[in-house]
Amino acid sequence: MVKLVSYFFCFFLLWALSCSAFASIEHYQRTFIPLYTPNGELRIAIRQFFRDNKVYFLVVDPYHYTTSIVKAGQSNMKNRAKNSAVELGDFEWNVVKETPYIKDLLRFTKYPSPLQNAGLTHSVLDKKGFFLTVDMCPSVKSFEKDFFLQLITLGKSKKPPFPVAISISGLWALEHKQEFNWLLQMQRKHKLNITWVNHSFSHLYFQDLPLRENFLLFFQTNLENELLAIELLLLNKKQLPSVFIRFPGLISDKFVLETSQRLGLIPLGSDAWLAKNQVPKDGSIILVHGNGNEHAGIHDVMAYLKDPNRTWLPIAQACN
Ligand SMILES: [Zn+2]
Repeated sequence: MVKLVSYFFCFFLLWALSCSAFASIEHYQRTFIPLYTPNGELRIAIRQFFRDNKVYFLVVDPYHYTTSIVKAGQSNMKNRAKNSAVELGDFEWNVVKETPYIKDLLRFTKYPSPLQNAGLTHSVLDKKGFFLTVDMCPSVKSFEKDFFLQLITLGKSKKPPFPVAISISGLWALEHKQEFNWLLQMQRKHKLNITWVNHSFSHLYFQDLPLRENFLLFFQTNLENELLAIELLLLNKKQLPSVFIRFPGLISDKFVLETSQRLGLIPLGSDAWLAKNQVPKDGSIILVHGNGNEHAGIHDVMAYLKDPNRTWLPIAQACN
């Protein structure tokens, strides 16, 4: 009997080990593959990875800027819904490049651009409302829980809940496990409508270096790894990385913009960094820090949040 129990225990252990091994994501890398849904809607795969020995893609809806995970084989290489004559694997770049997502990607990663605040800084459309972006750079302080609770209260009776773009850095998430898990829980329970914005993995900053040698421009930066590692961390938490990136310090150069373009990431700047006394107007992309490092901005945004006449929009609507 003891033998039988230990046999089953070993079997269970092996099964559990193999399941956890198979569940992890492997070979996460960039790609660029246009695909069609079974309904004939164009999608663009921007990442490819293996999970449980199967190939998956992170795909973008190039009209709504949303992302999803699709198992390879669940999308078509041609538009079957339209009975398209296009041969398997053949696409027209003219069609792909005219989608709003690709147009914005090319437009907002163009160089020359300013060293600080390149990319989308204000809605490209005439929008009545604000876009709230909250940066979570590495910090030794506690996060701004009252501020997040205020967002939850404001979205209580709404479906979807309050829209907030959180620029997440890997080192903040790893060093603030409890706070990060709380945000994940709020997302899962539909108490917040979070768009996860890439804020790099390490968000490295040296106090004694000039901006053009700092943040992602530091000479030892492994740029692609910085931008992919934080996505991987999100995916392992069952969250979807978005198509948006906020460069640490809002600092970029030609190489950073080109890499961002290759990775399909649209840079988000800001025209209303509240702690810098920039005043938002309709269509503004508001920037505050939720990591406890810049409480002045949180203080200012609370006043706007309490104004019932304000409309708050999801960041993807700044483009479409
Ligand atoms: Zn930051």
